[in-house]
Amino acid sequence: MGEFELIRRYFAAAACARAGGEVALGIGDDCALLALPAGEQLAVSADTLVAGVHFPDLCDPYLLGQRALAVSTSDLAGMGATPIGFTLALTLPTADSRWLCEFARRLDAMAAGCDMRLIGGDTTRGPLSMTLTVFGRVPAGQALLRSGAQPGDLLCVGGALGDAAGALPIVLGEREGDTAEAAALLRRYWTPQPQLALGQALRGKATAALDISDGLLADCAHIAAASGVSLCIEQSSVPLSKALLGFAGAEQALQCGLSGGDDYLLAFTLPAEALPALLDEGWPIHVIGHVTSGEGVQLLDADGNTIGVGPRGYNHFES
Ligand code: ADP
Ligand code: MG
Repeated sequence: MGEFELIRRYFAAAACARAGGEVALGIGDDCALLALPAGEQLAVSADTLVAGVHFPDLCDPYLLGQRALAVSTSDLAGMGATPIGFTLALTLPTADSRWLCEFARRLDAMAAGCDMRLIGGDTTRGPLSMTLTVFGRVPAGQALLRSGAQPGDLLCVGGALGDAAGALPIVLGEREGDTAEAAALLRRYWTPQPQLALGQALRGKATAALDISDGLLADCAHIAAASGVSLCIEQSSVPLSKALLGFAGAEQALQCGLSGGDDYLLAFTLPAEALPALLDEGWPIHVIGHVTSGEGVQLLDADGNTIGVGPRGYNHFES
């Protein structure tokens, strides 16, 4: 199977590769063409996944296909953007048709779930890696930036944190994972669900937002730095799932929730008066702290005393 047959069979022929919506021209020419509605800005983000670094060498292609796209699309959620499409630059050691078939099938399903179209890419031979570039649209001036947090705002997250980090020992083969709790954590690792609808609902309401990929403390430090404020996190308010608490124990679960990566949930700051309406609409919003003047991230105990440290994160967990 040559390069062009491979592209045609697994990618150009996929359901997600059909043109439509903002995609005026998809796979097959030198470039794809996107037509943006008047008054909208294009949101663009690229993510590279390398075998042995971002996922285990021998991982299931079926799972990888869905995870790769979910991780990339989560950046659109963090901006409050509506997805349009993505490109796939794929480097493969061999053209293994079973691997490609599984990978493409799951990629296609995730693309349908996120309303994303595959608009192009590149296919090369080499050690397994992939770069996905995602494109979305957002009304001009309404993208959720990291830089608008104001003292007095609430600090919120879009769900229970740390599940994917809790699954990592299983993914790496360091721990057995045959319980229901383990299965729940593994689902959160392999099938993160980008919070696209929540991001769009926060347009015009959240003052700053991002998707949590490197851990709550590290990512909150990005908002603090970009906004020139301090973010205070109440440790007891960090939402942790029953599955994580059961599988990892309370102390390890908290560490996963604060410092573990791969959550792909939104963290955002919100004026307090915007919260009730969003909760009434049923969005999964957890208030975990607030914004003050100052800098960096402070972790607070139940009495409001500082546990952690400033901008560089939570020293207790540094190895
Ligand atoms: P060029 O040589 O002009 O860069 P290619 O021969 O690499 O074009 O690709 C041909 C067409 O197939 C282009 O439209 C490109 O975007 C698309 N394409 C290549 N690889 C992939 C892939 N892995 N997934 C989706 N589309 C791809
Ligand atoms: Mg090319």
